[in-house]
Amino acid sequence: MRATTLLNKVLRIKFTRIIAVSFADDGVVCDVEPTTSIPRCGGCGCKVRKLYDRRPPRLWRHLDVGGMKLELRYGLCRVDCPRCGVTSEWVPWASPGSWFTEAFEQTTAFLAQHAAKTVVCAMMRVAWATVGAIIGRVVERLGGDDPLDGLTHIGIDELSYRRHHEYITVVVDHVRGRVVWAAPGKNADTLRTFFAELGEERCARIQTVTIDMSQAYITAVREAVPHAQTVFDRFHVQRLVHDALDQVRRAEVRAIVDPEDRRALKHSRFALQKNPWNLNAVESSKLIDVQHNNRRLYRAYLLKETLAAILDRRQPHVARSKLLDWIAWARRSRLAPFKKAAATIRDHLEGIVAYVATGFSNGPTEGLNGKARTITRRSFGFHSATSLISMLFLCCAGLVLKPAHVAPRFHST
Ligand SMILES: [Zn+2]
Repeated sequence: MRATTLLNKVLRIKFTRIIAVSFADDGVVCDVEPTTSIPRCGGCGCKVRKLYDRRPPRLWRHLDVGGMKLELRYGLCRVDCPRCGVTSEWVPWASPGSWFTEAFEQTTAFLAQHAAKTVVCAMMRVAWATVGAIIGRVVERLGGDDPLDGLTHIGIDELSYRRHHEYITVVVDHVRGRVVWAAPGKNADTLRTFFAELGEERCARIQTVTIDMSQAYITAVREAVPHAQTVFDRFHVQRLVHDALDQVRRAEVRAIVDPEDRRALKHSRFALQKNPWNLNAVESSKLIDVQHNNRRLYRAYLLKETLAAILDRRQPHVARSKLLDWIAWARRSRLAPFKKAAATIRDHLEGIVAYVATGFSNGPTEGLNGKARTITRRSFGFHSATSLISMLFLCCAGLVLKPAHVAPRFHST
């Protein structure tokens, strides 16, 4: 059997014929050509009989064969398309503008869904930035129905990346549990873009929107979907009092003169922040220390715990009255950070009670948001928001990918 025949049988790339095989320094190079007789425009896909010229041959990475790098070589024609003007022809093995075959891209994206960055890069022998671009193309190829169709309960949240220097706004569908929209930025205009894409008709069907208490999001939501119930995310409400607790703790640490006592209190942070039922023996004893030795800090701790308990309630009217009690208590607490938190909670009371009524939350303990945050961390090294957004869609939009495996065909020529 000739080498070209063998490789044609092994690779089985659609509408592609291998016409010659040779070795390069780092692997195998196959000269290929499309089996289609009339070239197609790479821009719109229509058949174009009029050739413009032929570019010098270049290489596309394909999946390795037996662990050895394999590349396809072909000189692209340029066609004179009546619609697109002079453009490169469409080739059956790759997307326009990509120097990887679709099979290679599909396998890379599958790995990126399931494996760590280092694994993907080592297996596929590509840089992480390249993986970002590949994912973008795969997501675009796979994106079927409009994800913005049929939305009723949505959550809007910001995700930080590049060590909290930059943000993207992410919209999730609470019903189907998937990411449906994302864009760089976290201000009212970012969100206005989303509602503009959604359009009036689909906006009218939105029933609840879960957001944090940032004024930018509140403004954009009230403008676009004034009829929808605004729900303030439990996670953000609790983070508010966690921060207040930490401010009280730090002020108390600063006030202590004795270095030994100061160190003990300094290391109490986790004992104070954690849920009491998750404390280990050391942390429990630290908490007991705080209870006996620092009444202000212990009061702050109780405020934090009580708020969490109120948000666990299931009856909205009970939660409302308990929240009002909590606000009054926080105001009397003589702890400035809690007075401030109480004012914020008072201003957003109905949206917080709506959380109790609906149970919708964006919090990191909820699957999707936690997953999105993990992906943000995993994507560290993606310098563009575009790559990060592609990664979010790849992993959180319900896309199902398989590695591009090929089976032999016994009855073919
Ligand atoms: Zn065209």
